Amino acid sequence: MESLLTFPKGGVHPPEAKELTADLPVEEMVVSAELEIILGQHIGAPCTPTVLLKDHVAEGAMIGEVVKGLGVPLHAPAAGTIKSFGMSAHPMRVSAPSITIKTDPDAFPRQYEKSDWQPLSAEELLKKVHGAGIVGVGGAGFPTHVKLNPPPNNPVDTLILNGAECEPYITADYRQMLEAGAEIVEGAKIILKILGIKKCLIGIENNKPEAIKRMTAAAAAAATTEYQISVQTLQVKYPQGSEKQLIQTLTGRKVPAFALPSAVGVVVHNVSTTKAIYDAIVLGKPLYEKIVTISGKGIKRPANLRVKVGTRISDIVDYLGGVTPELSKIIMGGPMMGFAVSSLDIPVTKTTSSILFLSEEEIDTSPHSQCIRCGWCLEACPMGLEPKEIAIHVEAGRPEGTGQFGVFECFECGCCAYVCPAKRPLVQFIRLAKMKAKH
Ligand code: SF4
Ligand code: SF4
Repeated sequence: MESLLTFPKGGVHPPEAKELTADLPVEEMVVSAELEIILGQHIGAPCTPTVLLKDHVAEGAMIGEVVKGLGVPLHAPAAGTIKSFGMSAHPMRVSAPSITIKTDPDAFPRQYEKSDWQPLSAEELLKKVHGAGIVGVGGAGFPTHVKLNPPPNNPVDTLILNGAECEPYITADYRQMLEAGAEIVEGAKIILKILGIKKCLIGIENNKPEAIKRMTAAAAAAATTEYQISVQTLQVKYPQGSEKQLIQTLTGRKVPAFALPSAVGVVVHNVSTTKAIYDAIVLGKPLYEKIVTISGKGIKRPANLRVKVGTRISDIVDYLGGVTPELSKIIMGGPMMGFAVSSLDIPVTKTTSSILFLSEEEIDTSPHSQCIRCGWCLEACPMGLEPKEIAIHVEAGRPEGTGQFGVFECFECGCCAYVCPAKRPLVQFIRLAKMKAKH
Protein backbone atom coordinates (compact mmCIF):
# COMPACT_ATOMS: atom_id res chain seq x y z
CA MET A 1 0.00 0.00 0.00
CA GLU A 2 1.25 3.51 -0.82
CA SER A 3 2.39 5.28 2.33
CA LEU A 4 0.88 8.73 2.48
CA LEU A 5 2.53 11.87 3.75
CA THR A 6 1.94 12.86 7.34
CA PHE A 7 3.64 14.42 10.37
CA PRO A 8 5.78 12.14 12.55
CA LYS A 9 4.49 12.66 16.10
CA GLY A 10 1.03 12.27 17.69
CA GLY A 11 -2.32 13.07 16.10
CA VAL A 12 -5.70 11.32 16.31
CA HIS A 13 -8.39 9.90 14.02
CA PRO A 14 -11.77 11.29 15.10
CA PRO A 15 -14.84 10.19 13.09
CA GLU A 16 -14.90 12.42 10.00
CA ALA A 17 -18.67 13.12 9.95
CA LYS A 18 -18.33 15.03 6.67
CA GLU A 19 -20.99 13.01 4.83
CA LEU A 20 -23.77 15.30 6.06
CA THR A 21 -22.57 18.17 3.85
CA ALA A 22 -19.75 16.99 1.55
CA ASP A 23 -22.06 16.56 -1.45
CA LEU A 24 -23.99 19.78 -0.92
CA PRO A 25 -22.93 22.54 -3.35
CA VAL A 26 -22.40 26.00 -1.88
CA GLU A 27 -25.74 27.73 -1.53
CA GLU A 28 -26.21 31.50 -1.40
CA MET A 29 -28.14 32.47 1.73
CA VAL A 30 -30.62 35.34 1.44
CA VAL A 31 -29.30 38.58 2.92
CA SER A 32 -30.53 39.13 6.48
CA ALA A 33 -32.55 42.23 7.35
CA GLU A 34 -29.74 43.26 9.70
CA LEU A 35 -26.03 42.48 9.78
CA GLU A 36 -23.90 42.95 12.91
CA ILE A 37 -20.29 43.42 11.85
CA ILE A 38 -17.84 42.96 14.73
CA LEU A 39 -15.04 45.56 14.60
CA GLY A 40 -12.31 43.16 15.76
CA GLN A 41 -12.40 40.32 13.24
CA HIS A 42 -8.80 39.20 13.43
CA ILE A 43 -5.61 38.97 15.47
CA GLY A 44 -4.43 42.58 15.83
CA ALA A 45 -6.15 45.89 16.46
CA PRO A 46 -9.94 46.28 16.00
CA CYS A 47 -11.25 48.67 13.35
CA THR A 48 -12.52 52.19 14.01
CA PRO A 49 -15.76 52.96 12.12
CA THR A 50 -15.36 55.22 9.08
CA VAL A 51 -19.13 55.72 8.72
CA LEU A 52 -21.73 57.69 10.67
CA LEU A 53 -25.18 56.80 11.95
CA LYS A 54 -27.78 56.71 9.11
CA ASP A 55 -25.11 56.77 6.39
CA HIS A 56 -26.12 54.78 3.33
CA VAL A 57 -23.43 52.29 2.33
CA ALA A 58 -22.98 50.34 -0.91
CA GLU A 59 -22.06 46.65 -0.92
CA GLY A 60 -18.28 46.41 -0.54
CA ALA A 61 -17.82 50.01 0.70
CA MET A 62 -15.32 50.48 3.53
CA ILE A 63 -17.00 50.92 6.92
CA GLY A 64 -14.05 50.55 9.30
CA GLU A 65 -10.30 50.95 9.32
CA VAL A 66 -7.45 50.14 11.69
CA VAL A 67 -5.98 53.51 12.67
CA LYS A 68 -3.21 52.20 14.92
CA GLY A 69 -1.53 48.80 14.94
CA LEU A 70 -1.79 45.66 12.88
CA GLY A 71 -5.01 45.06 10.97
CA VAL A 72 -7.16 45.27 7.87
CA PRO A 73 -10.22 47.33 6.91
CA LEU A 74 -13.84 46.23 7.14
CA HIS A 75 -16.38 46.45 4.32
CA ALA A 76 -20.16 46.54 4.12
CA PRO A 77 -21.34 42.99 3.34
CA ALA A 78 -24.49 44.38 1.69
CA ALA A 79 -26.00 47.71 0.73
CA GLY A 80 -27.98 49.40 3.48
CA THR A 81 -28.09 52.04 6.20
CA ILE A 82 -25.93 52.26 9.32
CA LYS A 83 -28.47 51.53 12.04
CA SER A 84 -26.34 51.57 15.19
CA PHE A 85 -22.95 51.24 16.85
CA GLY A 86 -23.11 48.89 19.81
CA MET A 87 -22.04 45.58 21.27
CA SER A 88 -22.60 42.17 19.68
CA ALA A 89 -22.59 38.73 21.25
CA HIS A 90 -19.21 37.05 20.75
CA PRO A 91 -18.28 33.36 21.12
CA MET A 92 -15.09 33.97 23.10
CA ARG A 93 -15.41 37.40 24.69
CA VAL A 94 -19.10 37.55 25.74
CA SER A 95 -19.55 40.75 23.70
CA ALA A 96 -17.58 42.92 21.27
CA PRO A 97 -18.05 46.37 19.63
CA SER A 98 -19.84 46.23 16.29
CA ILE A 99 -21.64 48.15 13.56
CA THR A 100 -25.19 47.14 12.63
CA ILE A 101 -26.37 47.66 9.05
CA LYS A 102 -30.06 47.63 8.17
CA THR A 103 -29.84 46.08 4.73
CA ASP A 104 -31.70 47.39 1.70
CA PRO A 105 -34.08 44.63 0.49
CA ASP A 106 -34.32 46.21 -2.98
CA ALA A 107 -30.55 46.40 -3.62
CA PHE A 108 -29.13 44.18 -6.36
CA PRO A 109 -26.01 42.17 -5.52
CA ARG A 110 -22.94 44.11 -6.67
CA GLN A 111 -21.39 42.78 -9.88
CA TYR A 112 -17.61 42.49 -10.19
CA GLU A 113 -15.64 42.34 -13.45
CA LYS A 114 -12.41 40.42 -14.02
CA SER A 115 -9.23 42.38 -14.64
CA ASP A 116 -5.71 41.33 -15.60
CA TRP A 117 -3.43 41.26 -12.56
CA GLN A 118 -0.25 40.32 -14.44
CA PRO A 119 0.96 43.92 -15.07
CA LEU A 120 0.74 44.75 -11.34
CA SER A 121 3.92 44.74 -9.27
CA ALA A 122 4.32 42.64 -6.09
CA GLU A 123 3.95 45.83 -4.02
CA GLU A 124 0.72 46.81 -5.79
CA LEU A 125 -0.70 43.30 -5.30
CA LEU A 126 0.20 43.33 -1.61
CA LYS A 127 -1.47 46.72 -1.16
CA LYS A 128 -4.66 45.41 -2.77
CA VAL A 129 -4.68 42.32 -0.51
CA HIS A 130 -4.49 44.62 2.52
CA GLY A 131 -7.15 46.98 1.15
CA ALA A 132 -9.55 44.09 0.59
CA GLY A 133 -9.54 43.25 4.30
CA ILE A 134 -8.24 39.71 3.93
CA VAL A 135 -7.35 37.63 6.96
CA GLY A 136 -6.72 33.89 7.26
CA VAL A 137 -10.27 32.64 6.91
CA GLY A 138 -9.62 29.13 8.17
CA GLY A 139 -7.94 29.81 11.48
CA ALA A 140 -7.12 32.52 13.98
CA GLY A 141 -7.51 35.28 11.41
CA PHE A 142 -3.97 36.55 10.96
CA PRO A 143 -3.89 39.54 8.55
CA THR A 144 -2.90 38.03 5.19
CA HIS A 145 -0.79 40.94 3.90
CA VAL A 146 1.55 40.48 6.90
CA LYS A 147 2.05 36.78 6.11
CA LEU A 148 2.75 37.74 2.50
CA ASN A 149 5.52 40.07 3.58
CA PRO A 150 7.91 37.85 5.57
CA PRO A 151 10.98 39.37 7.26
CA PRO A 152 13.83 39.90 4.74
CA ASN A 153 16.20 37.83 6.90
CA ASN A 154 13.96 34.77 6.34
CA PRO A 155 14.10 34.01 2.57
CA VAL A 156 11.05 31.99 1.54
CA ASP A 157 11.21 29.33 -1.20
CA THR A 158 7.91 27.42 -0.79
CA LEU A 159 4.24 28.33 -0.61
CA ILE A 160 1.97 25.70 0.93
CA LEU A 161 -1.76 25.82 0.35
CA ASN A 162 -3.66 24.12 3.13
CA GLY A 163 -6.51 22.05 1.71
CA ALA A 164 -6.33 19.42 4.44
CA GLU A 165 -9.51 20.50 6.27
CA CYS A 166 -8.77 17.93 8.96
CA GLU A 167 -11.44 18.99 11.48
CA PRO A 168 -14.47 16.65 11.46
CA TYR A 169 -17.78 17.91 9.95
CA ILE A 170 -16.32 20.91 8.06
CA THR A 171 -16.60 20.81 4.25
CA ALA A 172 -16.33 24.52 3.33
CA ASP A 173 -12.78 24.26 1.93
CA TYR A 174 -13.68 20.99 0.22
CA ARG A 175 -16.54 22.66 -1.66
CA GLN A 176 -14.25 25.60 -2.57
CA MET A 177 -11.73 23.16 -4.07
CA LEU A 178 -14.49 21.42 -6.06
CA GLU A 179 -16.23 24.55 -7.21
CA ALA A 180 -13.40 27.10 -7.53
CA GLY A 181 -10.22 25.11 -8.24
CA ALA A 182 -9.11 27.35 -11.14
CA GLU A 183 -9.56 30.49 -9.02
CA ILE A 184 -7.58 28.96 -6.12
CA VAL A 185 -4.71 28.09 -8.48
CA GLU A 186 -4.81 31.63 -9.94
CA GLY A 187 -4.74 32.96 -6.37
CA ALA A 188 -1.67 30.76 -5.72
CA LYS A 189 0.08 32.36 -8.72
CA ILE A 190 -0.69 35.82 -7.32
CA ILE A 191 0.84 34.80 -3.98
CA LEU A 192 3.91 33.35 -5.72
CA LYS A 193 4.40 36.63 -7.57
CA ILE A 194 4.08 38.62 -4.33
CA LEU A 195 6.63 36.37 -2.61
CA GLY A 196 8.90 36.27 -5.66
CA ILE A 197 9.09 32.45 -5.64
CA LYS A 198 8.06 29.56 -7.95
CA LYS A 199 7.06 26.58 -5.86
CA CYS A 200 3.62 25.85 -4.44
CA LEU A 201 2.49 22.60 -2.79
CA ILE A 202 -1.24 22.07 -2.24
CA GLY A 203 -1.81 19.62 0.63
CA ILE A 204 -5.12 17.70 0.60
CA GLU A 205 -6.09 14.77 2.83
CA ASN A 206 -6.75 11.43 1.18
CA ASN A 207 -10.41 11.40 2.24
CA LYS A 208 -11.14 14.05 -0.44
CA PRO A 209 -10.35 12.21 -3.70
CA GLU A 210 -12.59 14.45 -5.81
CA ALA A 211 -10.85 17.58 -4.50
CA ILE A 212 -7.44 15.99 -5.22
CA LYS A 213 -8.59 15.20 -8.76
CA ARG A 214 -10.01 18.64 -9.49
CA MET A 215 -7.16 20.59 -7.92
CA THR A 216 -4.62 18.45 -9.80
CA ALA A 217 -6.47 19.19 -13.05
CA ALA A 218 -6.66 22.92 -12.22
CA ALA A 219 -2.92 23.03 -11.44
CA ALA A 220 -2.12 21.17 -14.70
CA ALA A 221 -4.36 23.48 -16.76
CA ALA A 222 -2.59 26.53 -15.35
CA ALA A 223 0.95 25.12 -15.61
CA THR A 224 3.66 27.45 -16.88
CA THR A 225 7.45 27.36 -16.65
CA GLU A 226 7.18 30.36 -14.32
CA TYR A 227 5.39 28.49 -11.53
CA GLN A 228 5.56 24.91 -10.17
CA ILE A 229 2.22 24.10 -8.55
CA SER A 230 1.49 20.53 -7.46
CA VAL A 231 -1.04 18.67 -5.32
CA GLN A 232 0.29 16.46 -2.50
CA THR A 233 -1.92 13.74 -1.04
CA LEU A 234 -1.85 13.58 2.75
CA GLN A 235 -2.76 10.84 5.19
CA VAL A 236 -6.04 11.46 7.03
CA LYS A 237 -4.89 12.42 10.49
CA TYR A 238 -5.91 15.30 12.74
CA PRO A 239 -4.35 17.98 13.02
CA GLN A 240 -2.87 17.54 9.54
CA GLY A 241 -3.96 21.08 8.62
CA SER A 242 -2.11 22.77 11.44
CA GLU A 243 0.65 24.98 10.03
CA LYS A 244 3.64 23.39 11.76
CA GLN A 245 2.46 19.82 11.08
CA LEU A 246 1.68 20.59 7.44
CA ILE A 247 5.11 22.15 6.88
CA GLN A 248 6.87 19.16 8.43
CA THR A 249 4.73 16.75 6.40
CA LEU A 250 5.39 18.44 3.07
CA THR A 251 8.95 19.74 3.42
CA GLY A 252 10.47 17.79 6.32
CA ARG A 253 11.35 21.14 7.92
CA LYS A 254 10.57 21.66 11.59
CA VAL A 255 9.47 25.14 12.63
CA PRO A 256 11.27 26.01 15.88
CA ALA A 257 9.18 26.82 18.99
CA PHE A 258 7.66 30.32 18.85
CA ALA A 259 9.00 30.91 15.30
CA LEU A 260 6.97 31.71 12.17
CA PRO A 261 6.89 29.35 9.14
CA SER A 262 9.10 31.83 7.29
CA ALA A 263 11.91 30.83 9.68
CA VAL A 264 12.13 27.61 7.62
CA GLY A 265 11.47 29.30 4.27
CA VAL A 266 7.74 28.56 4.03
CA VAL A 267 4.51 30.57 3.86
CA VAL A 268 1.21 28.75 4.43
CA HIS A 269 -2.24 29.90 3.29
CA ASN A 270 -5.58 28.18 3.48
CA VAL A 271 -7.21 27.37 0.10
CA SER A 272 -10.22 29.55 0.95
CA THR A 273 -7.96 32.48 1.88
CA THR A 274 -6.27 31.97 -1.50
CA LYS A 275 -9.67 32.17 -3.18
CA ALA A 276 -10.31 35.43 -1.27
CA ILE A 277 -6.99 36.75 -2.64
CA TYR A 278 -8.17 35.85 -6.16
CA ASP A 279 -11.47 37.67 -5.53
CA ALA A 280 -9.64 40.75 -4.26
CA ILE A 281 -7.05 40.98 -7.03
CA VAL A 282 -8.88 39.69 -10.11
CA LEU A 283 -12.40 40.90 -9.28
CA GLY A 284 -11.64 43.80 -6.92
CA LYS A 285 -14.00 42.24 -4.36
CA PRO A 286 -13.21 42.76 -0.67
CA LEU A 287 -13.67 39.95 1.85
CA TYR A 288 -17.16 40.29 3.31
CA GLU A 289 -18.78 36.90 2.82
CA LYS A 290 -17.88 33.41 3.97
CA ILE A 291 -18.66 29.84 3.06
CA VAL A 292 -19.81 28.30 6.33
CA THR A 293 -20.60 24.61 6.89
CA ILE A 294 -23.77 24.22 8.93
CA SER A 295 -23.93 20.64 10.13
CA GLY A 296 -24.86 18.19 12.85
CA LYS A 297 -28.00 16.24 13.69
CA GLY A 298 -29.40 19.23 15.58
CA ILE A 299 -30.18 21.33 12.47
CA LYS A 300 -33.07 20.49 10.16
CA ARG A 301 -31.20 21.14 6.92
CA PRO A 302 -27.37 20.89 6.95
CA ALA A 303 -25.72 23.04 4.26
CA ASN A 304 -22.62 24.75 2.93
CA LEU A 305 -23.81 28.34 2.90
CA ARG A 306 -22.31 31.49 1.43
CA VAL A 307 -23.29 34.03 4.07
CA LYS A 308 -22.57 37.69 4.60
CA VAL A 309 -20.19 38.52 7.45
CA GLY A 310 -22.43 39.84 10.23
CA THR A 311 -25.24 37.31 9.70
CA ARG A 312 -26.56 36.17 13.08
CA ILE A 313 -26.73 32.44 13.86
CA SER A 314 -30.47 32.85 14.49
CA ASP A 315 -31.01 34.01 10.88
CA ILE A 316 -29.09 30.97 9.61
CA VAL A 317 -31.24 28.69 11.76
CA ASP A 318 -34.43 30.30 10.40
CA TYR A 319 -33.16 30.02 6.82
CA LEU A 320 -32.44 26.29 7.26
CA GLY A 321 -35.85 25.51 8.74
CA GLY A 322 -34.96 25.50 12.44
CA VAL A 323 -33.29 23.09 14.83
CA THR A 324 -34.31 19.50 15.59
CA PRO A 325 -35.50 18.21 19.00
CA GLU A 326 -32.17 16.35 19.29
CA LEU A 327 -30.11 19.58 19.50
CA SER A 328 -27.85 19.50 22.55
CA LYS A 329 -24.89 21.82 21.88
CA ILE A 330 -23.91 24.51 19.35
CA ILE A 331 -20.24 24.91 18.42
CA MET A 332 -18.67 27.64 16.27
CA GLY A 333 -15.75 26.05 14.44
CA GLY A 334 -14.92 22.36 14.37
CA PRO A 335 -15.58 19.94 17.23
CA MET A 336 -11.85 19.73 18.07
CA MET A 337 -10.93 23.43 18.20
CA GLY A 338 -14.26 25.28 18.13
CA PHE A 339 -16.08 27.12 20.90
CA ALA A 340 -19.43 26.21 22.43
CA VAL A 341 -21.85 29.11 22.04
CA SER A 342 -24.73 30.00 24.29
CA SER A 343 -26.41 32.70 22.18
CA LEU A 344 -27.98 32.56 18.72
CA ASP A 345 -27.32 36.32 18.44
CA ILE A 346 -23.63 35.73 17.67
CA PRO A 347 -22.78 36.94 14.14
CA VAL A 348 -20.58 35.22 11.57
CA THR A 349 -17.09 36.73 11.24
CA LYS A 350 -14.42 36.42 8.55
CA THR A 351 -12.96 33.41 10.40
CA THR A 352 -16.16 31.40 10.89
CA SER A 353 -15.78 28.13 8.96
CA SER A 354 -18.60 26.16 10.50
CA ILE A 355 -21.44 26.19 12.98
CA LEU A 356 -22.30 22.76 14.34
CA PHE A 357 -25.64 21.88 15.86
CA LEU A 358 -24.81 18.68 17.68
CA SER A 359 -27.17 16.12 19.18
CA GLU A 360 -26.47 14.31 22.44
CA GLU A 361 -25.23 11.25 20.57
CA GLU A 362 -22.64 13.42 18.76
CA ILE A 363 -21.07 14.83 21.94
CA ASP A 364 -19.55 13.29 25.05
CA THR A 365 -21.07 14.56 28.27
CA SER A 366 -19.56 12.02 30.66
CA PRO A 367 -17.94 13.60 33.76
CA HIS A 368 -14.17 13.72 34.13
CA SER A 369 -12.15 12.00 36.85
CA GLN A 370 -8.61 12.00 38.22
CA CYS A 371 -5.65 11.38 35.91
CA ILE A 372 -4.79 7.70 35.79
CA ARG A 373 -1.35 8.45 34.34
CA CYS A 374 -1.88 6.28 31.30
CA GLY A 375 0.27 8.58 29.14
CA TRP A 376 -2.12 8.56 26.18
CA CYS A 377 -2.22 12.35 26.05
CA LEU A 378 1.57 12.49 25.70
CA GLU A 379 1.44 10.09 22.79
CA ALA A 380 -1.36 12.01 21.08
CA CYS A 381 0.21 15.46 21.37
CA PRO A 382 1.69 16.44 17.97
CA MET A 383 3.92 19.00 19.70
CA GLY A 384 5.48 16.52 22.09
CA LEU A 385 4.13 18.34 25.18
CA GLU A 386 3.02 16.98 28.55
CA PRO A 387 -0.67 17.88 28.85
CA LYS A 388 -1.28 15.76 31.94
CA GLU A 389 1.41 17.63 33.91
CA ILE A 390 0.01 21.01 32.82
CA ALA A 391 -3.45 19.99 34.02
CA ILE A 392 -2.19 18.61 37.33
CA HIS A 393 -0.27 21.84 38.02
CA VAL A 394 -3.30 24.00 37.17
CA GLU A 395 -5.56 21.89 39.40
CA ALA A 396 -3.06 22.22 42.22
CA GLY A 397 -3.08 26.03 41.83
CA ARG A 398 0.42 26.21 40.33
CA PRO A 399 -0.18 27.44 36.75
CA GLU A 400 3.10 29.38 36.82
CA GLY A 401 4.97 26.07 36.80
CA THR A 402 3.51 24.90 33.49
CA GLY A 403 6.01 26.65 31.21
CA GLN A 404 8.46 23.76 31.67
CA PHE A 405 5.85 21.41 30.11
CA GLY A 406 5.50 23.60 27.02
CA VAL A 407 2.15 25.25 27.74
CA PHE A 408 2.96 28.19 25.43
CA GLU A 409 3.78 25.90 22.52
CA CYS A 410 0.33 24.31 22.78
CA PHE A 411 -1.95 25.39 19.91
CA GLU A 412 -5.03 23.89 21.56
CA CYS A 413 -5.66 21.19 18.94
CA GLY A 414 -7.51 19.05 21.50
CA CYS A 415 -5.84 15.71 20.61
CA CYS A 416 -4.87 15.16 24.26
CA ALA A 417 -8.42 15.70 25.55
CA TYR A 418 -9.82 13.52 22.75
CA VAL A 419 -7.83 10.45 23.81
CA CYS A 420 -8.01 10.91 27.58
CA PRO A 421 -9.87 7.92 29.09
CA ALA A 422 -10.55 9.96 32.25
CA LYS A 423 -12.31 12.60 30.06
CA ARG A 424 -10.18 15.34 31.56
CA PRO A 425 -10.80 18.81 30.04
CA LEU A 426 -7.11 19.21 29.24
CA VAL A 427 -7.51 22.07 26.74
CA GLN A 428 -9.53 24.08 29.27
CA PHE A 429 -6.78 23.55 31.85
CA ILE A 430 -4.20 24.66 29.30
CA ARG A 431 -6.20 27.79 28.38
CA LEU A 432 -6.49 28.60 32.08
CA ALA A 433 -2.73 28.23 32.53
CA LYS A 434 -2.09 30.59 29.62
CA MET A 435 -4.60 33.14 30.92
CA LYS A 436 -3.14 33.09 34.44
CA ALA A 437 0.36 33.53 33.02
CA LYS A 438 -0.78 36.70 31.21
CA HIS A 439 -2.27 38.33 34.34
S1 SF4 B 1 -4.07 20.68 22.86
FE1 SF4 B 1 -1.92 21.28 23.20
S2 SF4 B 1 -1.15 19.82 24.68
FE2 SF4 B 1 -3.06 18.97 23.85
S3 SF4 B 1 -2.39 17.70 22.14
FE3 SF4 B 1 -2.82 19.69 21.25
S4 SF4 B 1 -0.85 20.78 21.29
FE4 SF4 B 1 -0.66 19.02 22.66
S1 SF4 C 1 -4.67 10.74 28.94
FE1 SF4 C 1 -5.81 11.57 30.69
S2 SF4 C 1 -5.67 10.02 32.24
FE2 SF4 C 1 -4.12 9.51 30.71
S3 SF4 C 1 -2.24 10.54 31.46
FE3 SF4 C 1 -3.25 11.98 30.11
S4 SF4 C 1 -4.51 13.23 31.48
FE4 SF4 C 1 -3.96 11.40 32.60
